This record gives sequence, structure tokens and C-alpha cells, in this order.
Amino acid sequence: MSIKENINQVKEDIKNYSDNPEKVKLLVVTKYVNEDIIKKVLEADHKYLGENRARVLRDKHDNLKDKEIKWDFIGNLQRNKVKYIIDYVNLIHSVDSLKLAKEINKRAKKADRNIDILLQVNLSGEDSKSGYTEDEIKKEIKKIQKLKKITIKGLMVMAPFADNENIIRKTFKDTRKLLDELNKNYSETELTELSMGMSNDYKIALEEGATILRIGSRILNN
Ligand SMILES: *Cc1c(COP(=O)(O)O)cnc(C)c1O
Repeated sequence: MSIKENINQVKEDIKNYSDNPEKVKLLVVTKYVNEDIIKKVLEADHKYLGENRARVLRDKHDNLKDKEIKWDFIGNLQRNKVKYIIDYVNLIHSVDSLKLAKEINKRAKKADRNIDILLQVNLSGEDSKSGYTEDEIKKEIKKIQKLKKITIKGLMVMAPFADNENIIRKTFKDTRKLLDELNKNYSETELTELSMGMSNDYKIALEEGATILRIGSRILNN
């Protein structure tokens, strides 16, 4: 199947599995591929892309020079790398500490931009993954919301590496519940985005309320 066909298939799945398909965005993760392949994604008229490494994102952004591309950052972000992406990044999915949020805020001020972010959560407490626990996020969300150049749009989560569908579904369900609770009791503005679902679990994520799918291999590895 071509990249275009793969994208259309996922879009079809969005209609079939989500209760609110009009709210769901498809982020194509290009971390495995070079600019030649990315051009094929652009030719398929898809311009919402994501990368998980700051300098790679900068290089691809500079090499492609297509102003219509919306570039999201989805990986573990070190504070000293924020500078590589601050001038153009559309949404940072992976904020997992107040320190990182403060650095983004500081750089955003210099760049004279407002930056949209998601808070990454790790509810299962898996050591291998970064992200806030439920208690931590409740403690810090108001402090991050005080940072003037940052807007928290919602939550991001990665499901555990598991074959067991119930475990994956529970992670997504718990993240959705946390979003609702934050909106009710902790957040000063409405959080609307749930970035969850990758190649192997996006249908489950759609059923549990995902609004941003992050999909790489399912679309780009033919
Ligand atoms: C690589 C990556 C994805 C996409 O993974 P696929 O399984 O190839 O779809 C999504 N989110 C994050 C944070 C990633 O690093």
C-alpha cells in the first residue's frame, strides 16, 4: 500500500472507532524516515508531522522549508535542547516537569511566541517511561498554568509495552478519567486534547477518546 492509502485507511478507522471523529487529528511520526520519504507524505497532502529528537526535528524543518507543515515534538525533551525547536514547534507533547515547562516559557518569551504543550503522564509508574503520576500532576498543573507563554492543551500518554489489550485500554481509560478530573477540580482552563494511540494500539485509543493519534510505522513502513 502507498503512504496515501495508509493515511486514508487510518482516517477511515478514525471514523469507525471514535465517538467524535471530527475532533481527531492524525500526527504522522517521521522519526524513522528521511526527507525524501517525508516529501511523499507531503505529496499525499498531509502536513501534520512529529519527531522525537530536537536536533533531528530542527534539521528536517530546515531542509524541508515548507511553511505549511505543522511540526510537533513528541519525545523526551532535555532542557538544553528546547532552543532548537522553539521558533516553529506547533505542540510539545512531552512536558513532564516544572523545570522543563519553565525553560520552554523562558525561551518562548525570547522568541515572542506562545507555546502549546501537553503534559505527559505515566500512570502505570513504569520506570522506562517518563511522565507525571496522578499525584504529581495535580500538584504541578497550577504552577505550570501560571507561566504566561505556555498553554496546556491536554495530556499525552504512551501505553505500556504489553500484548494484553486490557492493560493498554486501562491506561487510555485512566488518562481520560484524569483529564476529566483535572478539568473539574484542578485546571483553570479547559483541557481538550488526549494524545494517545500509536501504530499498534490506535484503535483502542480511539475508542477511549483519543484526539491526537501519533502514528509512524503503520503509515511509513511498507
Ligand atoms: C515513535 C513514536 C510514535 C510512533 O510509533 P509507531 O509505533 O511507529 O506508530 C508515537 N509516539 C512516540 C512518543 C514515539 O516515540
